[in-house]
Amino acid sequence: MIRANKNTKSSDIQKYQLLRDNMIQNQIISRGIKDKKVLDALRKVPRDIFVDEAYKNSAYEDRPLPIGFGQTISQPYIVALMTESLELTGNEKVLEIGTGSGYQVAVLAAITKEVYTVEIITSLYKENKELLKKYKNVKMSNHDGYLGWEKYAPYDRIIVTAAPDHIPQPYIEQLKDGGIMVIPVGPSSWGQTLYKVIKHGTRIKKIGLCDVSFVPLTRRN
Ligand code: SAH
Repeated sequence: MIRANKNTKSSDIQKYQLLRDNMIQNQIISRGIKDKKVLDALRKVPRDIFVDEAYKNSAYEDRPLPIGFGQTISQPYIVALMTESLELTGNEKVLEIGTGSGYQVAVLAAITKEVYTVEIITSLYKENKELLKKYKNVKMSNHDGYLGWEKYAPYDRIIVTAAPDHIPQPYIEQLKDGGIMVIPVGPSSWGQTLYKVIKHGTRIKKIGLCDVSFVPLTRRN
């Protein structure tokens, strides 16, 4: 994708801040998101630099947007809901599966200490290397995220932004005891449920949050 970030004029910065404030009020707070850390992060991170140039003016609309390679940047409300569900205090080590546009990572990096993110599509990974350079607390990898990221495990939190049809066992193993995972699970782009999963020793507790529509978690052979 052709990233929009190179072309943000200073006069546009104010315009986007206004659009961002409206997004937070009308899409996020109005739907019940309360966590101040999440709201502050959404206020700070310029979503417009994470989208394709062609969609820059739609960056703050209430919907997902295409980012090339058949993938999407999630709807702002879903990013907010998933982030709030992680119950971050600021000290957690978080693993994200599906870097995509890099927006969700940037939101997490604005809140917490360490973020690890995995992307299966090499071109998206390379684009994000450049875009996320200034986030010093982010580490990225280009591999099949079905496997999690063993090297830095265990994680306090895991957030999965592509949908598998079951919860991959590596995620359960790489989540700390007492840790929280947020993950969409379902057969295809419809009929998926977003779950909050809490690990208690060898047991897991699954709480359904809402119906969602994510791109599928693909596998690398
Ligand atoms: N968090 C992203 C959402 C991106 S969409 C954002 O803020 O924009 C989901 C992403 O998951 C896509 O980029 C897709 O390529 C990636 N993905 C799908 N299967 C994957 C896998 N097995 N491992 C890692 N990434 C995967």
